[in-house]
Amino acid sequence: MRPFTCASCGQLLFFENSVCLHCHSPLGVDPDSRRLMALTDRGDGFTPFEQPEPYFRRCSNELLARCNWLVAADDPEGLCTSCRLTTERPNDDDTVGLAAFADAETAKRRLLAQIGGIGLTFVPRSIDPDAGLAFEFLSARNRRIITGHQDGVITLDLSESDDAHREFVRQQLGEPYRTVLGHLRHEIGHYFWPGLIESGGRIDAFRSLFGDERTSYEDAKKKHYGGDSQAHWQDTFVSEYATMHPWEDWAETFAHYLHIEDGLHTARSFGLAVGEPSTRSDRPASTLAIEPMVDAWLALTVALNGMSRSIGEADMYPFVLAPAVIEKLDFVRTAVVESAITEA
Ligand SMILES: [Zn+2]
Ligand SMILES: [Zn+2]
Ligand SMILES: [Zn+2]
Repeated sequence: MRPFTCASCGQLLFFENSVCLHCHSPLGVDPDSRRLMALTDRGDGFTPFEQPEPYFRRCSNELLARCNWLVAADDPEGLCTSCRLTTERPNDDDTVGLAAFADAETAKRRLLAQIGGIGLTFVPRSIDPDAGLAFEFLSARNRRIITGHQDGVITLDLSESDDAHREFVRQQLGEPYRTVLGHLRHEIGHYFWPGLIESGGRIDAFRSLFGDERTSYEDAKKKHYGGDSQAHWQDTFVSEYATMHPWEDWAETFAHYLHIEDGLHTARSFGLAVGEPSTRSDRPASTLAIEPMVDAWLALTVALNGMSRSIGEADMYPFVLAPAVIEKLDFVRTAVVESAITEA
């Protein structure tokens, strides 16, 4: 996450906050720039701190989704640009589901701010009913919900917000970590695939790196859950799940790129930078454009893992980035950067 500071007192702000912890100024996220800013309460609305305009009001999901995003005062919609994308949520009497819903919405706002920050654009489902982006956050208590993406609709099983449940599933699947934000980053990778790859003129390059996505997904799924996992998958894939099918490899790699991108911005916003990692010499020399980013990231994660061990915790970043994985990350980065330039 990029750094935000309070215009009133200079305090470093957290993206999720609605009030500055130091000077108590109200805070809100500008719907256009997706930047968090200090506000002046005008009684009949809010303006950016000590500025006469523009006027905003708070999103009507302020309480339900713990939403701190703003809506332009003259906007006929009550919901902000993030909350509007959600087409399904738990019923009003489902208090457990609604608590999980607020957690999921919080992760989604972080996702959307990052997507906008790296210059990717999406079409909401309200504009494109066939392939536009929408989110369904559903409670699996009374029915079976499968987290996934289909033609622009991202569905999240809200039981993934329950720490104990998610930890159980994580162990069952042997995943190094499993988070709601990670799920959303993975699923939105599927959403961006057609635009970035298929119509983005990168299908041949994609197939040479990730494999042929036309192979049967159903067969691949059966094989994967039948326990037929690839040995030494760490040499070519960012996760075991990525081995299942080229689409999943893409989504896992895309999500990992977003982890790294956000992680580095957050580190910089706290003034954290670590020198060259010791792992650098283990890798062959490369001219990939992502190399400086990976170097900075690995240096940082070596330090963070060391910090985790210092307080008796497991490694915060239990991943190995093999050269083949770095090449795939570079492919994702190039697709994102070039698409952002085209859109600008
Ligand atoms: Zn402040
Ligand atoms: Zn909202
Ligand atoms: Zn997937």
